[in-house]
Amino acid sequence: MKVTIKNLTKRFPGRGRKDPETVAVNDFDFEIPSGELVGLLGPSGCGKSTTLLMICGLLTPTEGKILFDGEDVTDVPPEDRGVGLVFQNYALYPHMTVEQNIMFPLGNLRGQDKLSKEEMKSRALEAAKLVQIDSLMDRRPKELSGGQQQRVAIARALVKMPRVLLMDEPLSNLDARLRLQTRVEIRRIQRETGITTIFVTHDQEEAMSISDTIVVMEAGVVQQIGKPQDVYDDPHNLFVAKFLGTPPINVFEGSLKGGKVVIGQSEVFDIADLEADAGTDDERFRSGGVKKGSGRKASEAGDIPVWVGIRPEGFYIDENGPLACRLKGVEVMGRDVTIVSEHPSFQGEAIRTIVDAQSGIDTTKSEVRYRLRPGKVFVFAKDSGERLYGEK
Ligand code: ATP
Repeated sequence: MKVTIKNLTKRFPGRGRKDPETVAVNDFDFEIPSGELVGLLGPSGCGKSTTLLMICGLLTPTEGKILFDGEDVTDVPPEDRGVGLVFQNYALYPHMTVEQNIMFPLGNLRGQDKLSKEEMKSRALEAAKLVQIDSLMDRRPKELSGGQQQRVAIARALVKMPRVLLMDEPLSNLDARLRLQTRVEIRRIQRETGITTIFVTHDQEEAMSISDTIVVMEAGVVQQIGKPQDVYDDPHNLFVAKFLGTPPINVFEGSLKGGKVVIGQSEVFDIADLEADAGTDDERFRSGGVKKGSGRKASEAGDIPVWVGIRPEGFYIDENGPLACRLKGVEVMGRDVTIVSEHPSFQGEAIRTIVDAQSGIDTTKSEVRYRLRPGKVFVFAKDSGERLYGEK
């Protein structure tokens, strides 16, 4: 089912001068195509849960509308919206068995939807099979691992065959290994059922790996919507660029001068190359430093202070490269190595670059020099953080 969000806004009144009004969600517009899994991503307090609670009907929007397949459900009570909810804390009933927990929502069905005990049991078994806990039906929650408990919570949300599945940080209580495993499971279940799903998380890696589309939010405002890889490759502002990626993007204080991107005293990149696509022509660039891009905007550049963001994979070791950094260490990761270095214009603790293990870093030297890779360098306005060049 298609979910449409129109100008959705939620304001919470303050409690006086020291606690002013909070705009938890500000003018959110979005359409989620039927059957998609959308990851709602952002730091703590950015308005993710508030958005989810408005979609399920537990919170009333201050302004805006929510439509399911074009039908306005903004004033429809939660129990009549056909949504399934999964929260971070599984909230299972401790005195009930797995089967009873999964069946519980079916007991509330009334009128023509009312089911017999046998029908309820069979529906619960179906849902349990989907999340692969059908062999545990007689256990109580305390006899299950965290991952199994979360599966019961998912089965309970699925048993009523919801039109939309809403998940709020469903993996947060699981250890790292179980998180990975369960997120693969959630993706599988979502694909198998085709239920339109909204998945809230503050973990960018989780959102990127599981979602068809991600929505990046900050302070109640949507920053960017797109396919995970597209948003990573083409961030519209500094916030989005910094939020996605591990290790994170390396940010330097810099400027634009006479068609060049300058960091410290060094001209590190041609502005014309900021228009370049990641990957295209990369081999030629790698071997010979071939210039790309139209150069159209280069001539417009004055001396403008900017933030220069360079993805960790955007550095080539080159002893004649323009960006000289002080080498701090090298971390071997197998196929790749992470080089840790410093530069006076760098914003943060240490520059982390990822290079091929074969690229021959000389660890006896105190300096490492880099040439930068097109498509991996982004320039942002110093004041607003907006991207200045090459937005697709
Ligand atoms: P987290 O990842 O920490 O759960 P979130 O992105 O889900 O964060 P929300 O819970 O949606 O964020 O909160 C958004 C903002 O709205 C926060 O500033 C929060 O303090 C505020 N807020 C949420 N619920 C209420 C409420 N009932 N009354 C007042 N303010 C609220």
